[in-house]
Amino acid sequence: MKSNKQRRQEIKSRRVQRAERQARHANMRPVDRPIGVVVVTPARLQSTNSYGIPDFVQRGYYQDRPFHCKDCGKAEVWTAAQQQWWYEEARGDVWTIAVRCRVCRQYERARRVEARQVHLAGLAAKQARIESAKHSVN
Ligand SMILES: [Zn+2]
Repeated sequence: MKSNKQRRQEIKSRRVQRAERQARHANMRPVDRPIGVVVVTPARLQSTNSYGIPDFVQRGYYQDRPFHCKDCGKAEVWTAAQQQWWYEEARGDVWTIAVRCRVCRQYERARRVEARQVHLAGLAAKQARIESAKHSVN
């Protein structure tokens, strides 16, 4: 078991490493930064129970990924930077990839929120009917 002191030191060292990494990236001249390529930091990825290794982890870097939106068919590029954000900042599932363009993604999100509200309202109405039936029997 780790002591609080050890934990604090771990947290501190991680913060220092992150700050150094960000400083390195900021100091890099734009010409040195490979276009459309971002290095993968496997320690920051969401853990997975799979025995497989995603292709970008094997490769060691994210690269721009062209695709067609599954809803409207528009040609889009899921950039290396967006992939890094999704996998390392948002801690998205490492087996997921972008399938919708930005606009369709926003529509889909709104649609899901609305569907959930309809579902919950339906559940509440059903529960209210059950409760009132109970009271009418007794
Ligand atoms: Zn679309």
